[in-house]
Amino acid sequence: METPTKPHFVLVPWIGSISHIVSMTDIGCLLASHGASVAIITTPANASLVQSRVDRVTPRGAVIAVTAIPFPAAEAGLPEECERLDLTTSPAMVPAFFQANKKFGEAVAHYCLQDAPRRPSCIVAGMCHTWTLPVARDLGVPCYIFHGFGAFALLCIDHLYRQGRHEAIASADEVVDISVLPPFECKILGRQLTPHFLPSMSMGSGLMQEVREFDMAVDGVVVNSFDELEHGSAALLAAAAGKKVLAVGPVSLCCAPSLDPESDDARRCMSWLDGKKAESVVYVSFGSAGCIPPAQLMQLGMALVSCRWPVMWVIRGADSLPDDVKAWLRENTDGDCDSKCLVVRGWAPQVAILAHPAVGGFMTHCGWGSTLESVAAGVPMVTWPLFAEQFVNEKLIVDVLGVGVSVGVRKPTANVLTAGKPGSGEAKAEVGAEQVKSALEKLMGGGVEGEDMRRKALACKAKANASLKEGGSSYKNLEELIQSCV
Ligand code: UDP
Repeated sequence: METPTKPHFVLVPWIGSISHIVSMTDIGCLLASHGASVAIITTPANASLVQSRVDRVTPRGAVIAVTAIPFPAAEAGLPEECERLDLTTSPAMVPAFFQANKKFGEAVAHYCLQDAPRRPSCIVAGMCHTWTLPVARDLGVPCYIFHGFGAFALLCIDHLYRQGRHEAIASADEVVDISVLPPFECKILGRQLTPHFLPSMSMGSGLMQEVREFDMAVDGVVVNSFDELEHGSAALLAAAAGKKVLAVGPVSLCCAPSLDPESDDARRCMSWLDGKKAESVVYVSFGSAGCIPPAQLMQLGMALVSCRWPVMWVIRGADSLPDDVKAWLRENTDGDCDSKCLVVRGWAPQVAILAHPAVGGFMTHCGWGSTLESVAAGVPMVTWPLFAEQFVNEKLIVDVLGVGVSVGVRKPTANVLTAGKPGSGEAKAEVGAEQVKSALEKLMGGGVEGEDMRRKALACKAKANASLKEGGSSYKNLEELIQSCV
């Protein structure tokens, strides 16, 4: 058999949300730009997303193979094409999704174990693809995990597990101390922790235990971050876990795609921004799947239309909002290129938006992808965490890095993993319009506090760029990842 000249990486992105798939695709492109051969395995309904991204960002001369393997959604009692966890609409669908994912894993294993050239020299697995580990062990190749979280959040989760807190969070109101980066104090409420530590969780503790065991058993962790950002979190995690933790990002900087030329939304966003003054715009988005309950959305909307700055506001699930909210949105936000508040109902070209000189602040749900993209663009944030590890990311943004101001959310928003319906929630808004405006004023108002955040964000941007250049930390970590598989 011919010996391969360069390592062959097989990436299997977790099909949790678009953001997982996109960041792992970008990591594939990065590996290819360093000379590795790369294959990305996904499901049929997600393949066009991966393929179109690969087509736009693959470095010249590199080849990335995209393979679709059927996902047995219908067999598990799910609707056809329910091939991402964020497409499940009720907690009851979640166990069925994981059952289908297991079957998908068997098919992927069969595919990988066939003869060369399909045989990987390394597998990089998305966080819940626990079935990749036996495949890697059978083949005698390393298995790395990619969670989609930053190193600080991973360090906090690891710390809590080592303390046995997954069995011992007594109540949602308990204050949990996760001060893993002294001198920074980090305390959050039980209810603000990741699903691993929540008792009322639709995934069930058995599954979380399986994911934790997978995490402990893999050979290393790949992180979309850069070492200079998270105050040594990656090194601390590597020491605690006894394995490599390699920060290779920010992927948004090296793989920033050109705009999708077919997308009207993208063109509309960019031409609206072109007409605005430098650093004057607030960009508002809650990620690829974040839905805010209607009453809260109205309070946010009232703040956005009456604040002093032009606003670009991405709304997910706008079609299923109540009629009165839809009508209010139509009356107050839509319009032409001169409008003060531009609502985007489709997919916004976020990386390009954040890089536009007109954008001065980002109101974000603190998803790790968005957090890192903001930092990489040097844009300070107003933080509005919804769930998952986003409350922990908020601590990093506000308290450790000093690049954002918290809007003051204390309760997580319902989602399928925490046994709630996405976008549902209390009839009363937790955060009032005045509270939102006060956070915006702090960030955008030109005061000392906001300008300090902006300065710090720009310093992060410079470090992010340096980390990816030859000799930089992320560049070296990527080489180390490739070398560990030769
Ligand atoms: N994103 C985008 N356009 C949108 C919404 C999201 O490009 O309209 C991208 C964003 O740039 C980021 C990802 O989707 O890369 C969201 O990831 P994050 O980790 O912030 O949040 P999640 O979607 O996982 O909650």
